[in-house]
Amino acid sequence: MIVVMQPGASQEQIDYVVNRVHEMGLRDQVINGTELSVVAVIGDDRKKDRQVFETLPGVQKVVNILAPYKLSSAEVKPDRTTVAISDDCVVGGRQVPVIAGPCSVEGEDHILECARAVKAAGATALRGGAFKPRTNPYSFQGHGEDGLKMLDHARAETGLAIVTEVVTPADVERVAEYADCLQIGTRNAQNYELLKACGQQPRAVLFKRGMAMTIDEYLLAAEYILDAGNPNVILCERGIRTFENHVRNTLSLAAVAEVHKRSHLPITADPSHGSGHAHLVPSLTYASVAAGADAIILEVHPDPQHALTDGAQSLTPAEFTEMMPVMARIAESIGRALAPAPVNV
Ligand code: PEP
Ligand code: MN
Repeated sequence: MIVVMQPGASQEQIDYVVNRVHEMGLRDQVINGTELSVVAVIGDDRKKDRQVFETLPGVQKVVNILAPYKLSSAEVKPDRTTVAISDDCVVGGRQVPVIAGPCSVEGEDHILECARAVKAAGATALRGGAFKPRTNPYSFQGHGEDGLKMLDHARAETGLAIVTEVVTPADVERVAEYADCLQIGTRNAQNYELLKACGQQPRAVLFKRGMAMTIDEYLLAAEYILDAGNPNVILCERGIRTFENHVRNTLSLAAVAEVHKRSHLPITADPSHGSGHAHLVPSLTYASVAAGADAIILEVHPDPQHALTDGAQSLTPAEFTEMMPVMARIAESIGRALAPAPVNV
């Protein structure tokens, strides 16, 4: 249930509604939209007394939320949410940031080379895994905290915001010390303890869709992060498992449009994992921008053939550089623009 406040309702009126929510033994989340605020009432439906709220000063109406996901639903907040990864990298507005970098941080020189190259091409943020959730336990697992330090150096030199994965609740605090945005990977999309831990810290969370998740399950999972107190959730369509095997995963661009209909949260597209093959990445990237993705995340590596992880789907810096003006033209054609690279630090 949500209590929709009148436009211009005072802070006292909002606080009064929140107090009544608590008196009923329920929890609140206040969501401030551009026009008005709403108070989401969370908890046991039997305790919710709609009539009490309808009569409170400053209340416009009380609405039952039909979707099982509450805080992420467009019913709660019709205007889109923007999430700031950093001052320069805001996801969900008119500008479309491009987040690019290698699958994994392979070394100090390597990540610096990647960062310089993607920034020169116009990227707004640097991606790269220090903790890698690998399907095979004998594969490279990432450099861990050393990798985080390397990312930190790359940010200091280039000003690029850092997006990097966290794989276990115990590491959330440590990764949040270095990263601007915590990535939750597809294999952890239903690791509810990890979702809650990321919800208990304030940094933006790039939450990838589970490879076998329906959109309902995905939005319900996102709800764990929101419900734990962190509103800075960025969704990411990174491809799902289907019978088709010419791609590693099938990038569902319909999910981008569907999420925009059902939720106020921004959604990005990851055509690298969503195809698995570098030659497919440009087409899918252009289609993602056209479909309204709020950011694009791409794997770029100076020497894909020797990449420690995901070389087959990694673009060379030259390929990436060539794509950027095309992406910019497509963004412009739908009334958007690529976000600029950060100015020199
Ligand atoms: C990655 O971004 O390198 C990654 C492991 O992604 P996903 O969780 O989507 O497979
Ligand atoms: Mn990868």
